[in-house]
Amino acid sequence: MALESVSLASRFDPFPQLIDNVNTVLPRGNGRSYGDSCLNADGTMVNSRPLNRFIDFDPNSGVLIGEAGVLLSEILSLVVPQGWFLPVTPGTRFVTLGGAIANDVHGKNHHISGTFGRYIRQFELLRSDGQRLLCTPQKHENLFAATIGGLGLTGFITWAELQLRRIHSPWINAETIRYTSLAEFFTLCQASDQDYEYTVSWVDCAGTGKRLGRGLFMRGNHAQVDTKLKPYSSKTRTFPFVPPLSLVNSWSLKAFNAAYYHKQFQRQTQQTQHYEPFFYPLDGLLEWNRMYGPRGFFQYQCVVPTQHGKEAVSELLNEIARSGMGSFLAVLKVCGDIDSPGMLSFPLPGVSLALDFPNRGEALHRLFQRLDTIVSAAGGRLYPAKDGRMPGSLFQSGYPRWQEFTHYIDPHFSSSFWRRVMESA
Ligand SMILES: Cc1cc2nc3c(=O)[nH]c(=O)nc-3n(C[C@H](O)[C@H](O)[C@H](O)COP(=O)(O)OP(=O)(O)OC[C@H]3O[C@@H](n4cnc5c(N)ncnc54)[C@H](O)[C@@H]3O)c2cc1C
Repeated sequence: MALESVSLASRFDPFPQLIDNVNTVLPRGNGRSYGDSCLNADGTMVNSRPLNRFIDFDPNSGVLIGEAGVLLSEILSLVVPQGWFLPVTPGTRFVTLGGAIANDVHGKNHHISGTFGRYIRQFELLRSDGQRLLCTPQKHENLFAATIGGLGLTGFITWAELQLRRIHSPWINAETIRYTSLAEFFTLCQASDQDYEYTVSWVDCAGTGKRLGRGLFMRGNHAQVDTKLKPYSSKTRTFPFVPPLSLVNSWSLKAFNAAYYHKQFQRQTQQTQHYEPFFYPLDGLLEWNRMYGPRGFFQYQCVVPTQHGKEAVSELLNEIARSGMGSFLAVLKVCGDIDSPGMLSFPLPGVSLALDFPNRGEALHRLFQRLDTIVSAAGGRLYPAKDGRMPGSLFQSGYPRWQEFTHYIDPHFSSSFWRRVMESA
């Protein structure tokens, strides 16, 4: 565990004094990354959450400047009533502006909007030697590119400027379409990518044989007019306890997935939904991770290039279904070909598969090795924000710019993830 955690009370504060010259630091956002990229064992965490002030917002242009610890949920509360929305959002709104930049997060609109970092116009980076650097795509441009998706290793972002996108209402016109195979999933993606800003799919990772690759395809657009549905009130529940064993096992997984796949009577349904349940279904159940029991869970998220996408995803799903592991939280999404601004950004043109696995020790790690082999052979990579175990060789082959990136790391910054994937370098 980290030895200590310090905070900057104000964005004008100097960089915290390091305990001694061997201690390393890592910024902390809201801790919503799944693995060790947001941990610094035996080091110091610099907590950004006290930096939670808005600095400026222009409701005419949709340009917002906020401190790095502001949550995306706080941005939404401010800007949605004024007709603006996040240009890109991950599947939880409880992440900070700084954390969203450091992982260059992506969302359901990757195929037309790319990643979060594309909408960052500038930020201030506080380095451990006390320098404050204003980084833009033109100024300190290499540090700008290294910091977007830079896993918190290049310095501490104190504030950032973000371009929002216009909306006319908080509602989403959403459709859900049941599909029976991976081939049908890819056809739906092709048919939807032009006309739907948001596309994503739930895939039944327990399906074998003719059920392999079946799922529910979700697509949607912001409603053009405020449909004046009844006022929406945000509802959250809390998963009440940690069960002694994971509630997710091969039996509950098959039963749940079959029921979920058949949840709608018709093949295709339409509804107008508030943006919260559409984008953030998991935020409605706080502490949902408790359902995996005291041993917790791992997430595995990979992306494989388009030319090998169909075969690789089919092989991955086959392996997962045969293992009886996995969980009902399984997401398949086609990523577009818009360049990411970050040196270590995760998305690439292709298809991404993300799913949780209850921690079953060695058996799970053997499955991960088989999945790694498929991802690596297809020229794909894993997402550091969701990783707690990938071998260094897979990181290095998946992120060809990692050596260039090392030039921009702050000499006093490090993370458990970085030390792990650099061990063999
Ligand atoms: C339910 C759920 C759904 C998710 N869905 C998606 C998704 O759809 N797409 C996606 O891309 N991700 C997704 N994620 C992952 C999440 O969006 C990222 O891990 C995000 O970066 C977490 O932000 P955070 O504020 O919690 O930061 P943390 O997890 O605390 O830190 C993340 C990284 O940011 C760095 N950092 C934090 N603050 C600063 C700062 N001020 N300066 C410099 N570096 C900083 C940290 O050092 C660390 O490397 C999801 C996570 C959850 C829990």
